[in-house]
Amino acid sequence: RHNLEARQLPEPLESIRDQLLRQDVSARLSEQWLEVAEEALRESGMQLGSEQLQAIMREQAKAFIDERIGGGIQPDTRIVYIAGPTGVGKTTTIAKIAAEQLFRYHRKVGFITSDTYRISAVEQLRTYASILNVPMEVVQSPGDMQRALQTLQDCDLILMDTAGRNYRNELLVSELQSLFSHSEHSETYLVLSLTSKSGDMIEIADHFSKYALDKVIFTKMDETGSFGPIFNLLHAHNLRLSYMTNGQNVPDDLLLANSEQLCDLLLGDTRS
Ligand code: GDP
Repeated sequence: RHNLEARQLPEPLESIRDQLLRQDVSARLSEQWLEVAEEALRESGMQLGSEQLQAIMREQAKAFIDERIGGGIQPDTRIVYIAGPTGVGKTTTIAKIAAEQLFRYHRKVGFITSDTYRISAVEQLRTYASILNVPMEVVQSPGDMQRALQTLQDCDLILMDTAGRNYRNELLVSELQSLFSHSEHSETYLVLSLTSKSGDMIEIADHFSKYALDKVIFTKMDETGSFGPIFNLLHAHNLRLSYMTNGQNVPDDLLLANSEQLCDLLLGDTRS
């Protein structure tokens, strides 16, 4: 990052570099994109203006996200495992997704929670279950899981909240794995908060990668102005970008990630 800050660049590229730094885009990714713009500038005999260079940056950021967009819950998915550290907004996000699936796609939804270490977490999910009128099962051991799946067999979609407690707790990791009976039609989502540091998000994803993660959900986009960490995480981990949440309101504050919007957030609205 220090090298990137110190590097001499042609003037229009300096302001783009500063924008990437402000947005906390990693030095590696920034260098990668800037090199392409520098090369184009050189090839043009230094004729490209700042608008054209902005467009080159945007093209790259957009291509990067387009390759990694994963959409929401797939129509044939039956079980969704939701993992992530405590406090990122997992329970709230599960309630938002449940409402989306119930009201927009008319699917019969059920909840399973294994987050029995915190009574408040179970109660919180139970509250959403009763508001949304969806059945909920609590599991404490792999045997319970079989029973819970049996009880919820009429549901089209089961959302399973996993114990977030402490992602460093290896015991929990193996315990969770024993709960995961990976079937063909399951998806595993990692929930991360945009209020975390970029390096911490990558470390959390490293720990949770034991669960064969498919997609990532970013919460609390309303609480930050820097969106580079989304790009950094997707650069470091082979995950598909799914939902984003932008507030505490259930069910409204849920969005499907969209590459144009993310490029606007990262680079400013530079579309002509
Ligand atoms: P969990 O421990 O991961 O299950 O997290 P919770 O669902 O209990 O959420 C923790 C806090 O974050 C609650 O106060 C939520 O209202 C809040 N929260 C969740 N999503 C968002 C969001 O998108 N934006 C903001 N500002 N707050 C959120």
